Amino acid sequence: MRCEQGQDLPPHVLIMPYPSLGHLNPMLNLAHLFCLSDFHVTFIISDFNHRRLLEHTTVLDAFARYPGFEFRALPDGLPDDHPRAGERTMEIIFSIEKVTVPLFKKMMVHENFLGGAARRRVTCLVTDAMSFAPEFAREHQLPLILFQTGSAAYSWSHFCFPQLLQAQEIPFRGEMDELVKSVSGMEGFLRRRDLPSHYRVDDVNDPILQGVIERLTVKEANIFNTCEDLEGPIVAEILKHVPRIFSIGPIHEQIKSRLTEKKADVSIIKANLWAEDQSCIEWLDAQPPKSVIYVSFGSITLMTREQVLEFWHGLLNSSQRFLWVIRPDSIIGNEGNDQVLEELMESSKEKGLLVEWAPQEKVLNHPAVGGFLTHSGWNSTLESITTGTPMICWPYFADQTINSRLVSEVWKIGLDIKDTCDRLIIENAVRDLMEVRKEEFLKKAKNMAKLVKKSVSKGGSSYTNMDDLLQFIKSLII
Ligand code: UDP
Repeated sequence: MRCEQGQDLPPHVLIMPYPSLGHLNPMLNLAHLFCLSDFHVTFIISDFNHRRLLEHTTVLDAFARYPGFEFRALPDGLPDDHPRAGERTMEIIFSIEKVTVPLFKKMMVHENFLGGAARRRVTCLVTDAMSFAPEFAREHQLPLILFQTGSAAYSWSHFCFPQLLQAQEIPFRGEMDELVKSVSGMEGFLRRRDLPSHYRVDDVNDPILQGVIERLTVKEANIFNTCEDLEGPIVAEILKHVPRIFSIGPIHEQIKSRLTEKKADVSIIKANLWAEDQSCIEWLDAQPPKSVIYVSFGSITLMTREQVLEFWHGLLNSSQRFLWVIRPDSIIGNEGNDQVLEELMESSKEKGLLVEWAPQEKVLNHPAVGGFLTHSGWNSTLESITTGTPMICWPYFADQTINSRLVSEVWKIGLDIKDTCDRLIIENAVRDLMEVRKEEFLKKAKNMAKLVKKSVSKGGSSYTNMDDLLQFIKSLII
């Protein structure tokens, strides 16, 4: 490996994630995996997220031990108090394109990231959902690797956009339970309502749908946060379109597996943008084994007050114990007013605990937790799978609608209650998962956890694919 200055240097990977927690976490884990192989990494982060990571986590300490790692914080162009959840996430995309990308490009040129006397050239750019990236990479002859941070099924549904269009399966007409025929490999179980939520449009030229298709069907090398046992057949379909794929997931377990091999600390690597309330672990310690359902809808889901109340009634009526994460900014119309939360906390005391943000992986690993009522974000889904926790899926948007179908119909490790929000349905689903079909779901989930963990251990498919990815990047050095 030689650079312009003639020194031997490792590859230099430039990573730029979309700045939400669900993207930041897997991208930081990827950066960490590169650091373990002594790669140099420059990680572009929004200054807003950088400040919050500093405030709420130890993840920056974890990276401080790698001299070849550098965070570069750039503004995302939005004031700190700008809402960043729900549909407002689109505003971040527009703002990044307007404010962050020009600054990023300037930095690349002025600081010689692209070659020059002062520093080594970047070996490749890894991004997840940045529309400027393919053109930028081409312009500068920079190899591009797309990290698909959602499920492979989600990506595959985008690659099938032309087929869906040609078969006139989109825009949807009629019954949402109708099976979809144009997403090969998923014909037997994928219904219209399971396709990613942005497919629910009247006009296929809808800018959000078109934007997602454009950003996520890049034909350069792709990294997937999935594994053979979860989505092998779907990845095989994508391979017909993208010749170079590295399925290295679940990445949060791959990093732990490799840190453990090196006898390094795995407890400080999780990124979080909110303070974790550790008191819930003490509360869980006092509950019987597998008796608690953990309820969390991730970092960007929004709910109406009515929906919160349906869940609350459903949970209370199920008579099961529950630990429920409710971000204060997640209730629509509740702006700064914690009254709903206070009322819920007061009336849930007997059976439940409400917190604003939890140490989720610790919670899912806790012996008292027997189920997860989730929005089916891909990270939450993978964290649930690796801990052998069955799920009730209440997807909110994007990939979550397809992930939840995999959970219920392919892996059969949970129930999917999408497109409903009714206290009776919730009560019945919770009883089913935690009582009636408890043993069946736990057994399947435990088996799945074993397989998936094996894939990220030495000799497993994801572990081997990670080695291949490292070799591939080394081969890109010029
Ligand atoms: N998470 C957490 N504490 C919580 C709720 C969520 O640490 O109380 C983490 C969770 O472990 C996961 C991430 O937030 O890693 C959520 O990502 P996901 O892809 O599931 O959903 P998103 O927030 O992107 O919708």
